[in-house]
Amino acid sequence: MAVNAEKYQELIRELGTKVTLVAVSKTKPASDIEALYALGQRDFGENYVQELTEKAPALPKDIRWHFIGHLQSNKVKYIAPFVHLIQGVDSFKLLKEIDKQAAKCGRVIDCLLQVHIATEETKFGLDEEELASLLASSGFAAMRHIRVRGLMGMASFSEDQALLKKEFTVMHTLFQRYGKDWSVLSMGMSSDYRLAIAEGSNMVRVGSLLFGARTPVG
Ligand SMILES: *Cc1c(COP(=O)(O)O)cnc(C)c1O
Repeated sequence: MAVNAEKYQELIRELGTKVTLVAVSKTKPASDIEALYALGQRDFGENYVQELTEKAPALPKDIRWHFIGHLQSNKVKYIAPFVHLIQGVDSFKLLKEIDKQAAKCGRVIDCLLQVHIATEETKFGLDEEELASLLASSGFAAMRHIRVRGLMGMASFSEDQALLKKEFTVMHTLFQRYGKDWSVLSMGMSSDYRLAIAEGSNMVRVGSLLFGARTPVG
């Protein structure tokens, strides 16, 4: 499956300068990433630690790797040396581990807290109460090697535009309510990025639209 260069150019024009495109390359070969890189893309998103640590060394060093999957604490150490933004932080425990591993690498790692906005139970993320208590905790205030830049969320897997709009609006509200110095609101994927942007997103994570459909894994 080749990269859709025309779609990419179209999308870049559509997003303009205010919305960052993260090209989600999970399950796709390095050659697909190189093809998009050659067109100018630098932000790429991966979901699996092993896949990311296998791909990254062979690819250009100026790629900004976004970890967008569910990250297990015991795997943070593998990506801490090079990851650009960890988008799916959904617990204090995970954030603490990122802080610890970042300190070991002499880095400050940018993170997004993942909030649960979808109706599905299967999606990860903090609810508002958990978000508020994490941000207010003394443990959080003591972390020196992470920097929370904003929020990330996934809307329901649904065609119902009114439902998606409502979920994105909730995220935007949380973003404004809790992060006076935040700059990143990551929401929107191939099927719903336009709606997400209309509701305030400034970072979209787009995979299948650029790389074609994924064959299911696992
Ligand atoms: C896979 C994935 C995407 C991209 O999904 P597409 O529908 O292929 O654009 C975005 N965000 C997360 C968290 C993902 O896991």
